[in-house]
Amino acid sequence: MKYQSASLNIAMLSIHSSPVGELGTRDTGGMSVYIRELAKTLGGWGHRVDVFTGRSDGKKGPVFDAYDNVRIIHLAGGANGNVEKSSLYEHLPQFYLDLESFRNREKIKYDIIHSHYWLSGLLGSQARLSWGACLIHTFHTIGAVKNHVCPGENESELRLSEEERLGKLCDLIIVPTEKERDYLTRFYETPRDKVRVIPCGVNLERFKPVDKIAARQELGMRLEDRVVLYVGRQAPVKGLDRLLEAFSHLTHHPHLRLVLVGGDEEASPMYQQLRSGATALNIQKNLVFTGRVDQKVLPLYYSAADVLAVPSYYESFGLVALEALACGTPVVTTPVGDMANIIKDGVTGYVALDPAPGSFAECIETALTTQETNGFSPGRVRASVTEFAWEVMASKVLEAYRAVVHR
Ligand code: UDP
Repeated sequence: MKYQSASLNIAMLSIHSSPVGELGTRDTGGMSVYIRELAKTLGGWGHRVDVFTGRSDGKKGPVFDAYDNVRIIHLAGGANGNVEKSSLYEHLPQFYLDLESFRNREKIKYDIIHSHYWLSGLLGSQARLSWGACLIHTFHTIGAVKNHVCPGENESELRLSEEERLGKLCDLIIVPTEKERDYLTRFYETPRDKVRVIPCGVNLERFKPVDKIAARQELGMRLEDRVVLYVGRQAPVKGLDRLLEAFSHLTHHPHLRLVLVGGDEEASPMYQQLRSGATALNIQKNLVFTGRVDQKVLPLYYSAADVLAVPSYYESFGLVALEALACGTPVVTTPVGDMANIIKDGVTGYVALDPAPGSFAECIETALTTQETNGFSPGRVRASVTEFAWEVMASKVLEAYRAVVHR
């Protein structure tokens, strides 16, 4: 493999979320998948990747080998374990000391620090000074954009000003879409030439079409149902409020089900809020909450569904859409991330340019009608995303690492 010749030492920082954490819950979602797939691919090519996180499930030791050449290192941050995301900022100095003592103990010289999310970016900016390594940052979400587009979001001034500062001081920023690059220029005046666009990927081996009838039988779903699927964390930015409202416009359809995959335990405030929202809209009977589902099982859900709904106010990319498409299932989405380019109306799904619940419902209805008349070809739907393999993304990221190191 051509990348094995000059291997790099890479420190990835993912302080608020573990790349091997429980996907679909609180802070563990697309970012964890991104780090996991990137680290695994680079490690497979012979680069050494250490991923530092502040979260641990307690089942593994503080340092463990996750994949070939990839270690996950749990930093305690002075709190003897898992620090809540809301207080991570004040623990950053202690995380930094932990990070330094690990590096000194192991005597590693890292070529690249790749930080993920603003809190890890701050840690990375400190390490960059003393390590003489290059700092590459991926925001995953941008605080100013969240505040701008998502009702009820109130990201702190601290986050916004630190993100702006990070954009100026790091060596390179990687974003998954042109839209994110525009946002950085617009909200933080980040120099455009510092930002490289590299789309995310999908695991095409894991996410493959499964026969719909077999998938439904396996999951205990009725064959006569029309199934609208949602997969993801249950955070306000995900737009579940408008999905429920959109769904309430569709109850004239017989046998319609909305299956919600992902989310926290039943006692969590968000779960309770969704339940009472569904009751107020009188759709509770058509709703199924599955809780979080292991990613290995998700292809069954995507294949069993008639359509995946992505009702988000904001996505920096939106991995679940790629996963559903890779399984041959059409997607109805708001125009978040790169969806307006990825989804081809009537061929692989629909983009609701007006994301109001009524219009979103119309798009779902059109997709269901197209599905009923076999208008979507699973083969064509899958073919639309085969260019998005993680290996393609990882090779572009590696190219960016090398360019920064050589500079
Ligand atoms: N996911 C999962 N199980 C669940 C819910 C979600 O494995 O029950 C995974 C899903 O496969 C996807 C990721 O979590 O890879 C969510 O990524 P996305 O970019 O859609 O959303 P984010 O979490 O980044 O907001």
